[in-house]
Amino acid sequence: MSDPALLVAVFWVLFLLDGVEVSRRARWSLLSLWGGRRARPAWRRWHVLSPWPGGWRAMADDLPFSLAPAGLCNWPAGAAGRPANEPAALQAWRWEDIADVREQDGQLIINGKKFCTATGHLRADELRALAAACGPLAAGARAALLRAQLSGWLRPAHLRRRTTVLRARTSALVTANVVALAGLAALSAWLLGWLSADSLGPAAAALVAQLLPEGLASLVLLHVGGLGLAWWERRRLRRLARGGGPQKNPLPAALCFPPAALRLRALLGADWFPPSHPVAVALAVARPAARDEVVFNVLADLRWPLTPAGGGPLVGEVLAWYRSELGGELEHLLRREKIDVAALFTPPVPDGAASRAYCPRCRAQFVTEGGSCPQGVPLRPLK
Ligand SMILES: [Zn+2]
Repeated sequence: MSDPALLVAVFWVLFLLDGVEVSRRARWSLLSLWGGRRARPAWRRWHVLSPWPGGWRAMADDLPFSLAPAGLCNWPAGAAGRPANEPAALQAWRWEDIADVREQDGQLIINGKKFCTATGHLRADELRALAAACGPLAAGARAALLRAQLSGWLRPAHLRRRTTVLRARTSALVTANVVALAGLAALSAWLLGWLSADSLGPAAAALVAQLLPEGLASLVLLHVGGLGLAWWERRRLRRLARGGGPQKNPLPAALCFPPAALRLRALLGADWFPPSHPVAVALAVARPAARDEVVFNVLADLRWPLTPAGGGPLVGEVLAWYRSELGGELEHLLRREKIDVAALFTPPVPDGAASRAYCPRCRAQFVTEGGSCPQGVPLRPLK
């Protein structure tokens, strides 16, 4: 490969790789390829960005814990991910016993013991404050506090508004990025020799050569100008979010790494969506089929929970309260969002003449009636 060809290849490979995110655990990404209001949810360990500058992505995690007036447990009840991210060791703490919470290497550490992944739903200082607030309260007052906390993660209307604001506030950035992308494509074609006199004819090739210095200067201006505009928009977004908005500024890094500056909307949108329950994000931006799958997963996990091994009485108490509260909150929310929950749980169509039963949680079908699926969920007859 010649030097210019190598340069072009490296640039475009870096551009494509820039949007890749790989994490140690599975996460939800809701990816909008073309920049519309809708995004496609995916639960896995790697995620990509749209190569189109208008695209955006919202990341979401299952809550890595369950909470109750009695305390806090690191089992993710009501998880939307399949398979869910389960803790390495099951743990539960009474609120009054939580003396110290720290965050270290992406983990929340309670009283010196690794508790759960730090997903941002509760930062270390917030969890410490919640434990301190719950400590002296009676059970009823604790429940009210925790319900308020829970409803803060279930706000699809707020997430919808955030999507609208992000798309509106970054539309000029998308235009700048599209022009830059077209310019870079033309520059790549020139570097690869596709705009030579042989292919274009001498007159057109001479014009290209004449326009090249201006073209290069425009690209540099677009890069710096686009980042300047993004800087200004980011400040406005932060003001709109009233402190709950983007924390880490990705723009200085993008200044030194031009491939990252070609998706300014996605860059500003990276931490624009507040940590939420995946159901709220799916209700806000996913299309009906994908949204229903996320809602089904969560409700099925509440109705037919997998029992964690090795839990003490506190684990059972926390999980029972949390499942019932989350179930109640979701019932209100889904009614408000006009989701037909009963329709989600209709028995599947038999996938063969021999199918006799199905698992209501994982929807797998079986040829024998009665018994349980491998995860221990009692089977139901297929009509
Ligand atoms: Zn099953």
